[in-house]
Amino acid sequence: MNIETLQLAGTSPGLTHSLRVLRFGTPGHGPKAMIQAALHADEVPAMLVAQALRERLCALDAAGQLLGEVVLVPCANPLGLAQQVLGQHVGRFDLRDGVNFNRQVPDVSATVSAAVQGRLGDDAAANVACMRDELRRATAALSADHPVDDLKLQLLRLAIDADIVLDLHCDAEATLHLYGLTPQAGLCAELGALLGAEAILLATESGDSPFDEACSRPWFVVQQAHPAHPVPLACFSTTVELRGAADTSHALAAQDADALVEFLRRRGVVAGVPAPLPAARCQPTPLAASEPVRAPGCGVIVFQQALGAQVEAGAVVADLVDLETGQRHSLRALSSGVLYARCDTRWATPGERVAKIAGTTLARTGKLLGP
Ligand SMILES: [Zn+2]
Repeated sequence: MNIETLQLAGTSPGLTHSLRVLRFGTPGHGPKAMIQAALHADEVPAMLVAQALRERLCALDAAGQLLGEVVLVPCANPLGLAQQVLGQHVGRFDLRDGVNFNRQVPDVSATVSAAVQGRLGDDAAANVACMRDELRRATAALSADHPVDDLKLQLLRLAIDADIVLDLHCDAEATLHLYGLTPQAGLCAELGALLGAEAILLATESGDSPFDEACSRPWFVVQQAHPAHPVPLACFSTTVELRGAADTSHALAAQDADALVEFLRRRGVVAGVPAPLPAARCQPTPLAASEPVRAPGCGVIVFQQALGAQVEAGAVVADLVDLETGQRHSLRALSSGVLYARCDTRWATPGERVAKIAGTTLARTGKLLGP
């Protein structure tokens, strides 16, 4: 294992941050996987799984079992990890401007699509190599003065030429679920079966350029823009939500890390014969059909459905108790599906999204991810 320390743009005199990057295997030899944990810095289960992965990757590397390269960033957001407000850790948004740490990641799709114009041929492998050169060139040419933009860019440079990008997060209270690109439903389903995912949410563009899409969408965009030439989707990128923020357990971390290593084995990064794929616990569904259950006003939330419950359209997901009138309002599901996430407070503010259902009937448009 090689440990690399990348300096991030400074925030103020005397205060700097750095990114620790753990490298396993041989760069440029075999498929490359980039795995990062907790881009939203308050996602502690993801950082625990990264430690379990580190142990496994060290052992595999020492045993000569790595056929490819793995780049592991165990704490992807040192800036957010240092954000404390009145004793509370705030890791999802940059405190200076409120921007979500996993949005507005540079999208080099258009740059790369223009750069490969006239250079693609009939050989898919040559097209992949050409694309990777241009992806590296496009991200190398970008610069960022703002520390958070610099963080996003440095992470993107580590991932942009990878075959596999696993962006490890968690939700507030949640079952294990994934986000991915619609044409990569098969690989999402395979990873989901290994991890025991209970929801897999797919889109071709969710809006606001989250990290996983910044890595995978350039391939999709170039494929669509140059239909006369074979361009495979050579980067499989997904956001893995490792349950809820309080779900730290050694047993779960070991189970998740084993599943991720098994996925790397199936992709040829790790040597060995893959075990049979476990039975899937869910089928992928459109992100556009994921239903946000919202509170119409403020009040006390009393959930009536457990995480992972199969909810029917019309069923009461939660009661909202109005403290001025004493009345209970029923928050009902519009669509049937798995209740895969809930908020982790029990006080609702007007319009707040208190739960999410992986439905199939809604067709939301615009920005599909929450703030
Ligand atoms: Zn997150």
